[in-house]
Amino acid sequence: MHRGAALVLLATVFIVILLPSAIVAFGRGGASLPEPQEEEEGAERENAGLTLRVFEADKDRVVEMDLEEYLMGVVMAEMPVEFALEALKAQAVAARTFTLQRSRRLGGEGCRKAPEAADICTDSTHCQDWIDPELGAGRWPAEKREEYLDKIRQAVQETAGEVLTFEGELIEAVYHSTCGGETEVPQAVWSGGPVAYLPSQPCPYCAHSPHYRSQMEVAWEKLASSLELDLPIPAVSGVQPTVKVVQETPGGRVGQLQVGEAVIPGKELRLKLGLPSTAFEWEADDQGLRLTLRGYGHGVGLCQYGADGAASQGKSYREILDFYYPGCSLVKID
Ligand SMILES: [Zn+2]
Ligand SMILES: [Zn+2]
Repeated sequence: MHRGAALVLLATVFIVILLPSAIVAFGRGGASLPEPQEEEEGAERENAGLTLRVFEADKDRVVEMDLEEYLMGVVMAEMPVEFALEALKAQAVAARTFTLQRSRRLGGEGCRKAPEAADICTDSTHCQDWIDPELGAGRWPAEKREEYLDKIRQAVQETAGEVLTFEGELIEAVYHSTCGGETEVPQAVWSGGPVAYLPSQPCPYCAHSPHYRSQMEVAWEKLASSLELDLPIPAVSGVQPTVKVVQETPGGRVGQLQVGEAVIPGKELRLKLGLPSTAFEWEADDQGLRLTLRGYGHGVGLCQYGADGAASQGKSYREILDFYYPGCSLVKID
């Protein structure tokens, strides 16, 4: 290891978090670090006191919810309950961090989609997915309901109050379904610059995802109409339009694609063609493009299927979070 890197690593391990009740900081390979301290009796009750204003996007109303109860609905909506418990716990911490980082109560900007002041909304394309736990449980087989609800509750309660920080600040704990083998940097997806704890890195844990690889055929006519382009149709003209990657993202996805004369951002392609991700290769023929795609979602931060795969290999939720958000600390807030 480079000596500078080793010093940074040490600094990470011994960092003192300036949040109340900092319990533990993990660095890379923090397996020997102390476990979180036992809570004093009644501490959980205090944690349960944080109330959020949640904009229920489908009902167009803002309701107040207890943070930890709200998180049960997020974990239920965001991850299959069959996932390993340690993956559900990693999801609970990521969702709690994401929520509080956005929450107006802690100085975040809140949800800008809501018509009135709200901390967060239930629209997964804007904030994060959420389902009424009662409604969510109703979708499970009746004989499994109690066991599954207990599992979700356990994931939230065993991580109660725990959040991720970087240099003393709550992190942007973004996550996605399946990276397909390599995570992405945030600047390839959103405006803003690089973020130290959101690097692009190989993910060896999500190959069991149904979204790991997928195929899709897009006819030339469909490509032209979806992208509103005037393309020559090979079956008629005998000429295949040019398709080539103009810019690749740091995470190996399509940043910009030339289609005919036009250059289209990968994000726009994903939206307009309904692609599971912007990581793809293709073969072209007279009919159109046969795409082979990797993963599902933007690819930044925690890979949910990866978390499940890592947990199945014996990794704890702390190790999973340390892998997907390297250099961050797990702390407990009051
Ligand atoms: Zn929102
Ligand atoms: Zn992955």
